[in-house]
Amino acid sequence: MKIKMVRSTDSPESMIAQAARISHKAHGEEEDYSGGEDRELIRKLRDWGHWSPFEFASATFYIEGISRSCLAQLTRHRLVSFMVRSMRYVKQDSDEVVIPESVEESGLAEEYREKIDESHELYQKSLDAGVPKEDARFLLPIGSKTSLYLKTNFREFRHIIELRGSSEAQWEIRELAEAFLEELSEKAPAVFEDLKN
Ligand SMILES: Cc1cc2nc3c(=O)[nH]c(=O)nc-3n(C[C@H](O)[C@H](O)[C@H](O)COP(=O)(O)OP(=O)(O)OC[C@H]3O[C@@H](n4cnc5c(N)ncnc54)[C@H](O)[C@@H]3O)c2cc1C
Repeated sequence: MKIKMVRSTDSPESMIAQAARISHKAHGEEEDYSGGEDRELIRKLRDWGHWSPFEFASATFYIEGISRSCLAQLTRHRLVSFMVRSMRYVKQDSDEVVIPESVEESGLAEEYREKIDESHELYQKSLDAGVPKEDARFLLPIGSKTSLYLKTNFREFRHIIELRGSSEAQWEIRELAEAFLEELSEKAPAVFEDLKN
């Protein structure tokens, strides 16, 4: 799995604090919601559960090499914007499959690979026979890899990290949530620091 933040709000902590301050100060007055710095204010917002200012910062990530299974879980998050590589238009290569570690450890990995290779052979045969990609893909495994862009605001990123970074979450989406947290914490430490262990 490869994951990279490609864009985010400039000075996101300052933007969140600026948005929050309007609720206590009229325009033109000195911007001093809490008497403190942006990060101090953000920590107070977190303590108060005042989450709407966190919607004023957002980030876009590029993700490569997650399974369609992981994608199905990710797309349950309704406040996220997605752009996913199409299996209708782009041919799936035979080596583009995630094999879980548990399978590698079970001694069944070779058998898995044989089945995956077989399904790709039939996929290719179907394409050669004129079956469109959008139909030939039906036999490909749920472990097939995909690439996508996703974008959402920091409030929703916090929500995703809380749900998907938990030990209850499935390992692949948990790795993704941990990677989000890593990159977002660098960008806006005060927004995400409480989610770190
Ligand atoms: C450990 C784990 C196991 C899971 N297992 C399953 C499973 O077995 N089967 C399954 O189908 N799903 C499963 N899910 C997915 C889960 O049901 C949610 O669809 C997913 O986590 C998205 O969460 P959400 O709805 O809170 O978030 P988002 O869609 O990201 O929404 C964010 C928040 O916005 C608000 N919101 C959004 N839409 C509405 C709405 N229509 N009405 C009211 N409030 C709204 C809610 O406060 C919500 O928490 C699992 C998730 C986890 C973390």
